[in-house]
Amino acid sequence: MEFSHGLISAAYIISALLFIFSLSGLSKQETAETGNWYGIVGMAIALIATIADPRVSNIAVIIITMVIGALIGLRLAKKVEMTEMPELVAILHSFVGLAAVLVGFNSYFEMDHGTSIVLTAEQQMAVNIHLVEVFLGVFIGAVTFTGSVVAFAKLRGIINTSALMLPHRHKMNLAAGVVSLLLMVSFVQQGGYDSALYIMTAIALVFGWHLVASIGGADMPVVVSMLNSYSGWAAAAAGFMLNNDLLIVTGALVGSSGAILSYIMCKAMNRSFISVIAGGFGTDVVVDNDTDYGEHVETQADVVAEILAEAKSVIIAPGYGMAVAQAQYPVYEMTQELINKGVKVRFAIHPVAGRLPGHMNVLLAEAKVPYDIVLGMDEINEDFADTDVVLVIGANDTVNPAAAEDPTSPIAGMPVLEVWNAKQVVVFKRSMNTGYAGVQNPLFFKDNTQMLFGDAKESVEKIYKAL
Ligand code: NDP
Repeated sequence: MEFSHGLISAAYIISALLFIFSLSGLSKQETAETGNWYGIVGMAIALIATIADPRVSNIAVIIITMVIGALIGLRLAKKVEMTEMPELVAILHSFVGLAAVLVGFNSYFEMDHGTSIVLTAEQQMAVNIHLVEVFLGVFIGAVTFTGSVVAFAKLRGIINTSALMLPHRHKMNLAAGVVSLLLMVSFVQQGGYDSALYIMTAIALVFGWHLVASIGGADMPVVVSMLNSYSGWAAAAAGFMLNNDLLIVTGALVGSSGAILSYIMCKAMNRSFISVIAGGFGTDVVVDNDTDYGEHVETQADVVAEILAEAKSVIIAPGYGMAVAQAQYPVYEMTQELINKGVKVRFAIHPVAGRLPGHMNVLLAEAKVPYDIVLGMDEINEDFADTDVVLVIGANDTVNPAAAEDPTSPIAGMPVLEVWNAKQVVVFKRSMNTGYAGVQNPLFFKDNTQMLFGDAKESVEKIYKAL
């Protein structure tokens, strides 16, 4: 089955529109499912139109490869835990980067570069533009590839999540950028030559690795969305090289939406956008875990149940630990029990709680917690002072007062849930270990804080029974 050029263009326009509807649908919880469907249908149309392009040969190989890829993808998607989602996204971004590198090399070797035939000015311009596309596509692809692999390794805990601080790291980043730019100029001037492409690829691979390695744990949410943006630009570059309009449009959609998300997250975390995308510029702080914060006070589930039964207002601040323990279901049962007893219960959601944007909202929606008692940080932060009890369930960095009080802390300046202003705070966790950013939390040692050790799900179930 072969489509005419006009039919393929029409199919691509429909797909592009569906992708835009999909993005708009995904921006609200209520419309997210429809948004997903738009995306699925758009992608199916795009795939069929691409395979039916008369320029495509070897359809059997493409279909076999797609079936193998789809089987692996299905298995992964079924198996992946919600808490492992960011790792999966990071590794998928690395594939986009690698694909752009391979497309770039293929496109370069296929073209008639370095030819001695005299070209017209117009032809020469077309060749130059293509060489720039190849060079930029390979550069962005290689940076995305190694950057995403490092992000995957950090999120999975294979490598240390704190920032790698090589001496002169900003100068090295700058040098990598300048050398690559000079190489591109000479690459285009000479009509394309292999060594420039190889050297730049090696530089870009190291640059991508270094860029993400030098960003500290607490800034990882921004890195994940930034790599999402890079992968979009890599796909758009591949679209230019392959002369595929849909790939250009889709890449640009992903690239710009990723950039907007990174910007929003930077604002939410009080980080400079430029400093994070430039590889953690300005984060030269030392992690000091030797400070003596004093003694912490331990409590038991039945004691917490008693405190809760006497409270008038309760705020629950969930975090990554609630996701790991899958405690959202008993948390909601406990919430209902308290509401039945006349207690005012609300949830406080930090923008980067958990391991992906919106992580807590998804978990709470899964457990059928009504949206109107789930509030964002800005909506609820001032209410802690009038709250009797705050339950911090598996959250740590997002409730760390050091962010507000200690300018030398790696998370200094990041807005946090000011739970310590409440009359009493109970922290649910398994040990005194640090959170994702690897910094100790002075909240645990405050006079109004009690620690409830154990798996969050078991602790909440015990409280529910006691209630
Ligand atoms: P943290 O990672 O700071 O802390 C989670 C806490 O949960 C840990 O202290 C851990 O303590 C506890 N915990 C783990 N398992 C359990 C369990 N089964 N039962 C009870 N407690 C448990 O989480 P936050 O949500 O507060 O902060 C998110 C962090 O992740 C931030 O630093 C953020 O920058 C980063 N991040 C966020 C992303 C996002 O997009 N949201 C993406 C990537 C990183 P213990 O081991 O003692 O039990």
